[in-house]
Amino acid sequence: MTLFDLHGKTALVTGSSRGLGFAFARGLAEAGARVVLNGVDPDRLAEAANPLRAAGHDVLTAAFDVTDEAAVIAAFDRFDADGIEIHILLNNAGIQFRKPMLDLATADWQRVIDTNLTSAFRVGREAARRMVPRGSGKIINIGSLTSELARATVAPYTVAKGGIKMLTRAMAAEWGEHGIQANAIGPGYMVTDMNEALIADPQFDAWVKSRTPARRWGRPEELAGTAIYLASDASNYVNGQIIYADGGMISVL
Ligand code: NDP
Repeated sequence: MTLFDLHGKTALVTGSSRGLGFAFARGLAEAGARVVLNGVDPDRLAEAANPLRAAGHDVLTAAFDVTDEAAVIAAFDRFDADGIEIHILLNNAGIQFRKPMLDLATADWQRVIDTNLTSAFRVGREAARRMVPRGSGKIINIGSLTSELARATVAPYTVAKGGIKMLTRAMAAEWGEHGIQANAIGPGYMVTDMNEALIADPQFDAWVKSRTPARRWGRPEELAGTAIYLASDASNYVNGQIIYADGGMISVL
């Protein structure tokens, strides 16, 4: 287990008040990391921290909006002032909504790109500014099946997630020589708030089940092992990759 051991490491997981981010944070904590939970709503963050603390994990919270440049910089300045080094950054915060491009306002396009893609650059840059001088660090970005595949009604999301794949490679290309590994996880269709309406739609539910070799939606906790692998020494020579954890869907679509 030593290869996967995260004791002595601190992991910041953006968007970890619920959904996949919370499951990633819990997995990293179970592997020994101290975790910093992030989200926009401080009350929801405090609530999310409770079960992890009750399980004996070392948990901090940092409420900030990943699209707010000044807030991101201030959060990292606070980490510095408090002596908190971020060894692992998991860029997970994201939003999605469905609208045909013909009806899509430019402001909505920009909001989705900023939250899902530019924020990974923004938070990644602040983390790497500290990791580069230390000569080590792990960055995990969250892509999607739409990192590869276009889907109608989610154009900016698709563009953002395609961008995540190339941002991950760019991070690997620029920061690899400084001992940083940047990789991505591409989840399939998972049971989270983001998909509430789709799960409730019998036609969409049937489509997911028929097109996924696993014949079911994924559970958030099923992604934790991939994050632990990419956060740990077990992946030290893996850089710039995206691992699809999707019940096999991308292989057959
Ligand atoms: P949820 O909608 O369930 O949760 C989103 C999380 O992101 C919440 O913690 C939310 O915080 C946080 N968040 C949203 N906007 C911001 C922001 N501006 N600043 C900080 N935090 C923010 O999403 P999922 O768990 O389903 O998705 C997580 C990631 O995984 C996203 O990047 C998504 O694109 C990706 N993904 C999801 C898939 C799925 O099937 N669910 C499939 C493929 C990829 P708060 O609680 O404060 O609102």
